Amino acid sequence: MSTPVELLAERLRRAAAEAAEAGVDLLVVTPGTDLRYLLGGGGDSHERLTCLVLGADGHAAPPALVVPKLEQPGWAGLPLDELGVEVVTWTDGEDPYLLVSDLAGGPRRLAVADSMPAAHVFGLRDALPGARQSLAGGVLAELRMRKDAAEVAELRAAGAAIDRVHARMGEFLRPGRTEAQAGAGIAAAIVAEGHTRAAFVIVGSGPNGASPHHDLSDRVIRAGDVVVVDIGGPLASGYNSDCTRTYAVAEAPPAAVREAYAVLQAAQEAACRAVRPGVDAQEVDATARRIITEAGFGPRFVHRTGHGIGLDVHEAPYIVDGNQRVLEPGMAFSVEPGIYLEGEWGARIEDIVVVTEDGAERLNDRPRDLVVL
Ligand code: ZN
Ligand code: ZN
Ligand code: ZN
Repeated sequence: MSTPVELLAERLRRAAAEAAEAGVDLLVVTPGTDLRYLLGGGGDSHERLTCLVLGADGHAAPPALVVPKLEQPGWAGLPLDELGVEVVTWTDGEDPYLLVSDLAGGPRRLAVADSMPAAHVFGLRDALPGARQSLAGGVLAELRMRKDAAEVAELRAAGAAIDRVHARMGEFLRPGRTEAQAGAGIAAAIVAEGHTRAAFVIVGSGPNGASPHHDLSDRVIRAGDVVVVDIGGPLASGYNSDCTRTYAVAEAPPAAVREAYAVLQAAQEAACRAVRPGVDAQEVDATARRIITEAGFGPRFVHRTGHGIGLDVHEAPYIVDGNQRVLEPGMAFSVEPGIYLEGEWGARIEDIVVVTEDGAERLNDRPRDLVVL
């Protein structure tokens, strides 16, 4: 998917407006997902400064892309001319931060990309000693949080792709294999089913399932294990999948596990149903947490209920206690409560949902029961 030029132009306009509203004179965006969102592409950040310099509304200077001369060809595929973005190159030996300072014309309030390397942050500070620096992430999140139809279509495709991997889980989770061996097969399937790479593969078997961000180990998967499988990656468009299912290997687990799992499943279902425009993000978290807490597992649900997703796997809005952000159509995020019994087992169920005009659409639809493989 290459993003239409008109859409990118609109994003640049809105970014300038949001910056003005946030009391910022200039956005300085180094390569990363923010830049990809604004320009439709971009390379990696490294020690040579590349950045988009975008004035807030009312700032006279046109947007400019500062780029090392030797890397200019790499930017040829982007519609910079059409977007009115001036390309300003620099060669080794020049001070690129002074170029930014010249373009800025002495701004007092600079917002830099959240992922800008610290070396560049300090370089800009030296070149613009009087400037106040803040983070641009919040400004750009105001745009990125609400997905347009094309972005939702990409997230939907990503959801379908990761569902196809979960559908094949019986090929990978076999007694006698290590988590790492199962994970290698899953990673290959993530690519085979349409992602450009596996961004993360969590296979938490038995007691490892009780560590929410466990990745892979040499633990051998045994019959009777409960296994948490949390996987995802980007499509070529950059939009990500992220989906968790919990499986039982070879035999049904004991009643105590099945009862706790039923609580989790009810909590995840209720939280998904709570998603609609006008509801606070924290209310979705509270919905899941209330059910888990009433069943006595409150302290075992050790993380927030979810996170926004798009060009980043984790982005705004966060579905967490204290977040009073009101949900709006187009917002996309995970609903992923978990129950973790240290030293024993863990379970998590995760779907990506998109807020619609009157409710929510789930982008994952593999069975949410404790499937025995
Ligand atoms: Zn996570
Ligand atoms: Zn996940
Ligand atoms: Zn997630």
